[in-house]
Amino acid sequence: MEVQDPLPDQCPHCHTGVEPRVLDAFLSDPTRQDNNILVVLQCPKNDCKNFFGVVYAYSQMDSIRSHREVYRRSEVIGGTFKGKVISAEIKAISPKYAEILNQALAAKAWRLSEVAGPGLRKALEFLIRDFLKVELAGEPDKLEGMARTMALGAVISNFIGDPSIKTCASRAAFLGNEETHYYRTWTEHDINDLETLLDLTEKFVGLRLSARKYEAELNPPPSKRKV
Ligand SMILES: [Zn+2]
Repeated sequence: MEVQDPLPDQCPHCHTGVEPRVLDAFLSDPTRQDNNILVVLQCPKNDCKNFFGVVYAYSQMDSIRSHREVYRRSEVIGGTFKGKVISAEIKAISPKYAEILNQALAAKAWRLSEVAGPGLRKALEFLIRDFLKVELAGEPDKLEGMARTMALGAVISNFIGDPSIKTCASRAAFLGNEETHYYRTWTEHDINDLETLLDLTEKFVGLRLSARKYEAELNPPPSKRKV
């Protein structure tokens, strides 16, 4: 028997790097060749000590001559989902985005892909609309227009000015709609692309918010303007 993948080196409870203690191991059915092996582990950190498991699944015979069975790691059992860390700027304008995004990412991590996609689409809408509330704060007519526009795609194309945000958000909206509709149009892109585009949108929104802060703070009177 040969186990090809090493034990996990991160505790799924406290999410720190550890060398877990091996407590025991079990075969799913000792009478079969294509077994699963459950290894019971414990986090060695004093302030954690939680139990978790790792399953190794039968993969193949190494070769007909050697008759060595090869096992590969298939899943880690137990632990908690480590949410994505959202920057303070983003959380300040859209706490709901942070909440919805991490629920969607938890669903994805737990392989609930049919609800993770619509969750990411919902997170995108909260991020965009909450960002526009800040961006259009000095333009009440546009702000009202944005609030009256129901379709997210139209909100992005009509009210987002920053080209990087517009590019990523519009593509994320395309893929987000795929996750909520019966038929798919963009068949070569999936929920991972949607997650990447949403992450890029979040980053560009964060950059825009940081730029706005310094734009407001370092806004000299006309007498000091030399450029
Ligand atoms: Zn731990």
